[in-house]
Parts: sequence; structure tokens; C-alpha cells
Amino acid sequence: MPYKFTFDLSKISRFFFKEIARTSYQKGMHKKVSKTVHEVIRRFKIQEATGLNLSDAVLLLEDFIDIQARNLLERDSFVQTRKRALFLPHCSRKYMDNRCKAAFDPNIPSYKCAHCSPDCLINRAASFAEKKGYDVYILPGGSCIPKILESKRYEGVVGVSCGEEIKLGGEMLKSMGVTGQAVPLVKNGCANTFFSLGNLLDLL
Ligand code: SF4
Ligand code: SF4
Repeated sequence: MPYKFTFDLSKISRFFFKEIARTSYQKGMHKKVSKTVHEVIRRFKIQEATGLNLSDAVLLLEDFIDIQARNLLERDSFVQTRKRALFLPHCSRKYMDNRCKAAFDPNIPSYKCAHCSPDCLINRAASFAEKKGYDVYILPGGSCIPKILESKRYEGVVGVSCGEEIKLGGEMLKSMGVTGQAVPLVKNGCANTFFSLGNLLDLL
């Protein structure tokens, strides 16, 4: 399920995301970050930069913090895993039409990148992950996750998607005893979306 609003944080400084990591750590320590969330939104001029109203900006930031906090909590067990998969969102492909040469397997269902475009974000993420031994799936939606996990029995999964999908996917992983790490999209909209490749490579 996508957010009911669109956002684009791709121009926000990388320091913003470091601040989220710091705030997430505080959340784990204190469980009370409401004031901090408002302060971070004000300090990084998130409303001015994105046009989001305050409640949408707060929801977005709280999701980012939850994701980061969970990454921190699960990091130690994730690094112990050996059989891993990377789930990438189909909406970050360079092309959403038949110029994308990814092969679609309806049995999974998922796309497999054919590496047709060197500047495609999905290509760059998939190429790196494949070299590191990950099985890579480009998913049309989170509902494919249980089927993949049931058939392949991965120990660890890294997922990229918008925050709401990450929350749903995280619940699925938890119920199946799989350790997860996640990277939220910084630009949503279900096409031409964007995530930080740097943040993903750090997690992988
Ligand atoms: S590089 Fe991969 S994901 Fe990107 S457009 Fe080509 S086949 Fe599709
Ligand atoms: S933005 Fe991408 S990951 Fe989020 S719901 Fe839309 S298609 Fe799925």
C-alpha cells in the first residue's frame, strides 16, 4: 500500500539521514522522539523542500526512524546470516515500459534485471548485490514476499521500497523468522522512484 501523498527527498542532504540514524538510536533508548521529529523537520526545512504538510512530514519521518531503529536492532543477527536475498522495487527501474529488458517470471512473481542500462539505479544495485552473493528480485509488490521466502528459505533479506511497504514486509519477515534490513525510498510515486544507493551498499 503506497502513501496517500507523494514526496521527493532526493535533494535533501545526506546529513539528514545521519540525523535520522542518530534519532533512531535515541528512540531505542528513550522511546520518546516526538519533539525531536518536529525539530528535525524544521531544521532540514523538509516542508519547504517537499511541499508536504506537517502531519505527512511527521508520518514520513517517523517511518524512516522506525525503519532505521529496526535496522539497528537487527543488524547483529543480520550479519550472521549466510543465505540472503535483496528485494528491489520495480518502480525504481529506469524504464517502466518494454524498454526495460528485465525478464518477468510469473511463477515467483518477480523481474530479473538484464542490465540493459548502466545508469539504471536497479541495475547498479542488482549488480553490486549479485557480486556479493545475494539473490536479487525486482518485485512488483510486497505480496510476492511470502511465496519467495517459503520456496527459498533465506536467512536474511534486504528490502528497498516505500516506508509503508517496508512496514508490511517487515511483519512478513518477522512472522517467518527471517532477519531483515531495509532502505526506504526517498522519492515515491510508483514510477521513477529513487533510493540512496550509498545507504543500500552500506547495508549490503
Ligand atoms: S537495467 Fe535492468 S531494471 Fe534497469 S531498465 Fe534495464 S533491465 Fe530494467
Ligand atoms: S512507491 Fe514503489 S514500492 Fe511504494 S507502493 Fe508504489 S510501486 Fe510499491
